Amino acid sequence: MLLCSVRGCHLPLIREDRRLHCPRGHSFDVARSGYVNLLQPQERRSKQPGDSTDAVLARRRLHDCGVTGPLFEAIARMADVSTSDIVLDAGCGDGFYLGNLVCRTNFAAHGVDISTPAVDAAARRYPECEWIVANADRFLPYAGASFSLLLSITARMNGSEFRRVLAPGGRLLVALPAPDDLIELRGVGRDRVDRTVATFAPGFKLADRRRATTTADLDAAAVSDVLLSIYRPIRSGSPQAMRVTFSLDLLLFVPSNSE
Ligand SMILES: [Zn+2]
Repeated sequence: MLLCSVRGCHLPLIREDRRLHCPRGHSFDVARSGYVNLLQPQERRSKQPGDSTDAVLARRRLHDCGVTGPLFEAIARMADVSTSDIVLDAGCGDGFYLGNLVCRTNFAAHGVDISTPAVDAAARRYPECEWIVANADRFLPYAGASFSLLLSITARMNGSEFRRVLAPGGRLLVALPAPDDLIELRGVGRDRVDRTVATFAPGFKLADRRRATTTADLDAAAVSDVLLSIYRPIRSGSPQAMRVTFSLDLLLFVPSNSE
């Protein structure tokens, strides 16, 4: 189901040992940790394609200390994934959500992100999933109607590509930072729900929405990790321990009948 990412090609990729190639001869290596990098040379050269190693590691430490566990549980309930699902996590980051979902329910799991350090971390920890580095803003390198469930968890969204790769009867779960997410560190944020529903309106209709909120008493190191993960500068002097709110708006979409 993987497609060649070369502009104007998009033919199916065939796997041979540690290499994938398309019928036109474009080829891509499988990395030592098992992911495939489908970024084009001009995308690799961009200053910072996606999350940096520091941000990836900071976010993973936060996940590992359990603060995002309640958010994961809320996402798992809404996703309601079954063993027959074929799932794509678009903007998968370090693989925390997809990797833990597949540990719980054994389904076919695919993750894509533009950040090589993030996908490398995902592939090392969750080898049972297929991990791809690609620029999903432009093109999701998968055949049409490949997936029964798409996840977009605090990631960039590409509605037309989401619609193309989603099978009939499929569903799309979008998680957005809620206005009170990290409110102690960055003040009240925007409510992104209405705008997101409008953005997806040509291809999707909203089927369900919930808000998942949790608070955690973080030590100074964990507060630093939150700041790193959102690219906030850490001012002189180490951050103070504090209680921090983590909050997501969860939106479940289904394809609208108009298409
Ligand atoms: Zn090709």
